[in-house]
Amino acid sequence: TNPLLNVSGTTIFEVMSRLARETGALNLGQGFPDGNGPEDVVARAQVTLADRANQYPPMLGVPELRQAVAAHNKRFYGIDVDWQTQVVVTSGATEALAASIFALVAPGDEVILFEPLYDTYAPVVRQAGGTPRFVRLEAPDWAIPEDKLRAAFGPKTKAILLNTPMNPTGKVFSRAELQLIADLVQAHDTYAICDEVYEHLTFAGKQHVPLMSLPGMAERTIRIGSAGKTFSLTGWKVGYLTCPPQLTATIGKAHQLLTFTTPPNLQHAVAYGLEKDAAYFETLGSDMAAKRERLARGLTAAGFKVLPGDGTYFLICELEPGIGLSDSEFCLKQIETAGVVAIPVSAFYDSAPPTNLIRFCFCKSDGMLDQAIERLVKHA
Ligand code: PMP
Ligand code: GLN
Repeated sequence: TNPLLNVSGTTIFEVMSRLARETGALNLGQGFPDGNGPEDVVARAQVTLADRANQYPPMLGVPELRQAVAAHNKRFYGIDVDWQTQVVVTSGATEALAASIFALVAPGDEVILFEPLYDTYAPVVRQAGGTPRFVRLEAPDWAIPEDKLRAAFGPKTKAILLNTPMNPTGKVFSRAELQLIADLVQAHDTYAICDEVYEHLTFAGKQHVPLMSLPGMAERTIRIGSAGKTFSLTGWKVGYLTCPPQLTATIGKAHQLLTFTTPPNLQHAVAYGLEKDAAYFETLGSDMAAKRERLARGLTAAGFKVLPGDGTYFLICELEPGIGLSDSEFCLKQIETAGVVAIPVSAFYDSAPPTNLIRFCFCKSDGMLDQAIERLVKHA
């Protein structure tokens, strides 16, 4: 086996979902909706499957989806994108991230990563021969420590990876924070990789602003989206990225080696979905905001301290100082006692994590959320 494969253990999401299946616990751990996605989008995939979309599609994605991604950038954010030279369709945002990192990062390069962070970022940077430079954000407001961010940039910096709206914190980066990042990226002549899979899941009047839409950033930013999140179809694994034309060929090469293509019927259905009217995207966000409220209220009633959050479909609770259990111990115990799965937030750190935070996922039916709340209140 290859000792250079930089992954330790099985992902926490898989581990916790397996425990949920084995024990019958309610799974508010791994982030996936318990519904079946929008019926019309699913129907479109079925139609195209019967129709024509069963052989290898073009490597960079079917034209209809690349055009839809370009139009979506323009419609929501005013970003001008040439679909032929600036869009790559990938098998999920996971692949878009890996392809972007493999395209940009060479041995000796540094990549700045905010902690807490999604579990694929650091291992893939290391696999590419790069070195992660972590900048830690602190609960409860997860503000950028400006001095530390400035200090992280240097001659070896190749890129900064930004996730907004941010998993697991629910933070939506403000325009001022984005401007700070944009200024540093430009001053140091580097790139930004933006994981924006939760772009349509913001609440409380918070607006998602893509870093790519800031002046001078279109030439330096890779912006990543996912049909898994935007259409509540996580199993489809259709992702897409928008990048400056000079990066497309290299990202395309990485994509060629990783998966080469993505199922064409799903691509056609996602193209259809991205063209849905404004109401679809607004409802996605407002439904999720209501679910956050519902779960937060229930968790508070069950004695949890819920931290604020403005986006994604996750919320974080802070365990009481005197509880005597780490986040992982607490989550395992909660499966046994209450039959509810959450994720220990320590899994989102590279080293020396805080151990007093747990993450709940709320993109579930109201009935399931209520059942989970009932169990948690009963076992509080
Ligand atoms: N980035 C973040 C922040 C995520 O939470 C997820 C969740 N699945 C992904 C990337 C991966 O997205 P996909 O399923 O499209 O690969
Ligand atoms: N993004 C999802 C989460 O954070 C899980 C995706 C996965 O299991 N890899 O829970």
